[in-house]
Amino acid sequence: MSTFKAPKGTYDLIPPRSAEYLAVREAFAAPLRRAGYGYVETPGFENVELFARGVGESTDIVTKEMYTLTTKGGDELALRPEGTASVLRGALENNLHKAGNLPVKLWYSGSYYRYERPQKGRYRHFSQVGAEAIGTEDPYLDAELIILARDSYRSLGLRNFRILLNSLGDANCRPAYRALLQEHLRGLDLDEDTRRRIDINPLRVLDDKREAVQRQLTGAPLMADHLCAECKAYHERVRELLTAAGVDFEDDPKLVRGLDYYTRTTFEFVHDGLGSQSAVGGGGRYDGLSEMIGGPALPSVGWALGVDRTVLALEAEGVDLQLPAVTQVFGVPLGEEATGELFGLITRLRRDGVAADLAFGGKGLKNAMKSANRSGARYALILGERDLAEGVVQLKELETGGQESVALDRVVAEVQAKLGSLPTR
Ligand code: AMP
Repeated sequence: MSTFKAPKGTYDLIPPRSAEYLAVREAFAAPLRRAGYGYVETPGFENVELFARGVGESTDIVTKEMYTLTTKGGDELALRPEGTASVLRGALENNLHKAGNLPVKLWYSGSYYRYERPQKGRYRHFSQVGAEAIGTEDPYLDAELIILARDSYRSLGLRNFRILLNSLGDANCRPAYRALLQEHLRGLDLDEDTRRRIDINPLRVLDDKREAVQRQLTGAPLMADHLCAECKAYHERVRELLTAAGVDFEDDPKLVRGLDYYTRTTFEFVHDGLGSQSAVGGGGRYDGLSEMIGGPALPSVGWALGVDRTVLALEAEGVDLQLPAVTQVFGVPLGEEATGELFGLITRLRRDGVAADLAFGGKGLKNAMKSANRSGARYALILGERDLAEGVVQLKELETGGQESVALDRVVAEVQAKLGSLPTR
């Protein structure tokens, strides 16, 4: 064992479980590609100010959870805690919104960093796949994104998740509601930190998970009852579109989310088998964010789905992803000359698209067969000195133990025929 350990709150993705992560990322990405979203990749760190302004000065993410650093050149940077601000910054910087084709639809996949208290499902380094539709206000887009996320969870085989939906209003109706809520909250018996939050971001108090706080919030005014006519109609339309698409959701008038930029539609995907860290994904509309980071008005909507928690959710539901075997054929050479010959054969199989591996390090038959069995391969190709002299190789089906001699110059075609249309990765 090395004397070093992965930093607190982080973990290594190692085989075979790492294959599940790749499959989850792919399950999130495939529907996005089919829906016209283009892949975007932004740096792992940004100017700290982007997140302070974008995510919100008063949010936990900015005040407590950012990994910040000062470079040797004096720049103040932060490891990205989330994707939306960076993607929007990138879209603006590259003038994607000026190409005359709105919305700009983008998707991303990557690592994110938050200095949180680690626990199961909550890490300091985690992985998200996200999607943003930038520059268009249209309830069909909000619905599209929710449908895409829901369908990708379903395509993985997940069943026990729920979609929580709310509207946070807009610049028109939220200020009056905010004042009303502040007035109400100031009359409650709350600790000092929470009272400070009432001044800065009273909506977040609604999201407080503590029982003692929740108990006092039963009579609190809710945004849903104070939406302006436009927001109300917009929200109704999103709800209708989801219903028409067969997407079940629950109205959650207290769903606020931990980032300041949301307006109107907000939603969260929660999984019931995960304990306290139950959110597997979330997102919403952020019509004011572009202006907050110095851009033009670009009403937008997006989401981010958590890869780590989705893998945990799959495990909680006992879903077996049926991942294809990594190795289909495994070479077992006995002796120096056989190794050279088999290495050539395995290389040819690989070039022909067969997932193939072989025993390295001059292993004896017993150990090499152990490796073959561990690899998950369907077939072993065993080549000894006598086979070599006869110009054949033993093709062994590992599960049944059935074995046949195949001429060396026929074996690639034979293996291909046997594997048929078995998928490779
Ligand atoms: P958020 O931007 O906080 O809504 O995050 C979107 C999704 O990313 C969440 O629903 C989680 O699935 C995932 N996520 C956020 N923070 C963490 C974390 N610290 N550890 C693991 N997953 C996270």
